[in-house]
Amino acid sequence: MNTPLENLPESCDVLVVGAGPAGSAAAITLARAGLDVVLVDQQSFPRDKICGDGLIPDAHRALAELGVLDEVMALAQPAHFVRCTSPRGRQLDVQGTLAVLPRRQLDEIICRAAVRAGARMYAPLRLTQLLEEDGQVVGAHLQQGSEQRQLRARWVVLATGAVPQALMDAGMALRQRPSAVALRCYIRNPAMTQEITGLEVLFHRSLAPGYGWIFPCGQAVFNVGVGIVRPPGAKPDAAGQMNLREMFHKLGGLSDTARRLFEGGEKLGPLKGAPLRYSLEGALLSRPGLLVTGEAAGSTYALTGEGIGKALETGILAAQAIALGSKSAQGGQAPAFSAAQVRDHYQAQVDALRPRFHLYERAQAASASPWLTELLLWRAQKSPRLRRGLAGILNESTDPSRRFSLKDMLRLLSS
Ligand SMILES: Cc1cc2nc3c(=O)[nH]c(=O)nc-3n(C[C@H](O)[C@H](O)[C@H](O)COP(=O)(O)OP(=O)(O)OC[C@H]3O[C@@H](n4cnc5c(N)ncnc54)[C@H](O)[C@@H]3O)c2cc1C
Repeated sequence: MNTPLENLPESCDVLVVGAGPAGSAAAITLARAGLDVVLVDQQSFPRDKICGDGLIPDAHRALAELGVLDEVMALAQPAHFVRCTSPRGRQLDVQGTLAVLPRRQLDEIICRAAVRAGARMYAPLRLTQLLEEDGQVVGAHLQQGSEQRQLRARWVVLATGAVPQALMDAGMALRQRPSAVALRCYIRNPAMTQEITGLEVLFHRSLAPGYGWIFPCGQAVFNVGVGIVRPPGAKPDAAGQMNLREMFHKLGGLSDTARRLFEGGEKLGPLKGAPLRYSLEGALLSRPGLLVTGEAAGSTYALTGEGIGKALETGILAAQAIALGSKSAQGGQAPAFSAAQVRDHYQAQVDALRPRFHLYERAQAASASPWLTELLLWRAQKSPRLRRGLAGILNESTDPSRRFSLKDMLRLLSS
């Protein structure tokens, strides 16, 4: 999959930087549209990515659209509910189409599909600087060890994830600070396989403003982690990491399931942390010759930190916009869009996703208050309508802007 550097062309239609879900989804879509695509990543593939590895319904839909869902599900651990545990131990199962697959495997499947579709993949190859002419991005400087290359492209798609360096270098970052930081490790415990079959999310006073999770990966292995929302102005990483480690060690005391998982479990490898960028905030989406997509554009949901699905979706949207502005290689038709229209179209498509992100933002704000979380779960246990509403949010089967205004939520809570 990692093509030798000597074969790197001097130019291509689209250079996609970052072969995570967003970049590979963009590369698949662009290559299928007949465009000449180069996909690069600073890490050799397959590579690990620090993540909870959970696939929620939006990810299932996007993987299906990309034609890789069956391949993913052949390896993934399926699950059918998210179990939310309240600060006082109240539990609520929200039904949904879910799965868990370690990112090393997931990202390799999607990246391979990009190569099968015709994209040329080069890794490890790092974007060091954009190539610009008169304010227009026309390619990039790329580096492998001490070797430097220049690649010209009509479009560059920046899909470099939550670490903001590339975003800042490209002049696209509106802030450097992450929205949240999280860490995870894998724990093997065969005794818990019958018991932990859903995606468990824990809210507790001692984790606020954050959450914990236990996700079953299959083969008696569980992805266990904690995340903390970083309030504006909070101190940078060292302190955050320390708090996270303390939070992680508290997890075992917060639920009986977590306690038994920890007590009888064997830790596989170290705890590892990473930043998250939420709520479609913190970055510009485009400039002439460049589109920003995936978590670099903040495509991860607040509250749960789920971001694979919307990284895939925004990657597809970026690619579709570029394809509309490109002459089809197969048909040779004239492009439907000018370059400016490509950028406007992408912006509009991403903006259309914002109501869902606002909903998760509101839920995150509510979760900072333990009594409100308690009230919501208590009401949902009693109200099938509220449970259906929550499942509708998870499955994205309801219109978030129409059905879930603050007024509606209050009405649901009191119904
Ligand atoms: C601890 C944790 C738990 C999470 N749990 C979940 C979960 O359970 N479910 C879920 O849906 N989401 C989860 N997320 C969020 C999820 O990981 C992200 O939303 C997702 O990875 C975003 O995909 P992406 O393609 O935008 O970026 P990434 O997956 O981060 O991919 C970016 C790629 O760009 C490459 N890159 C960066 N800079 C350069 C450069 N200069 N040159 C070349 N390549 C470069 C990187 O090597 C990387 O491969 C979690 C995140 C964290 C931190």
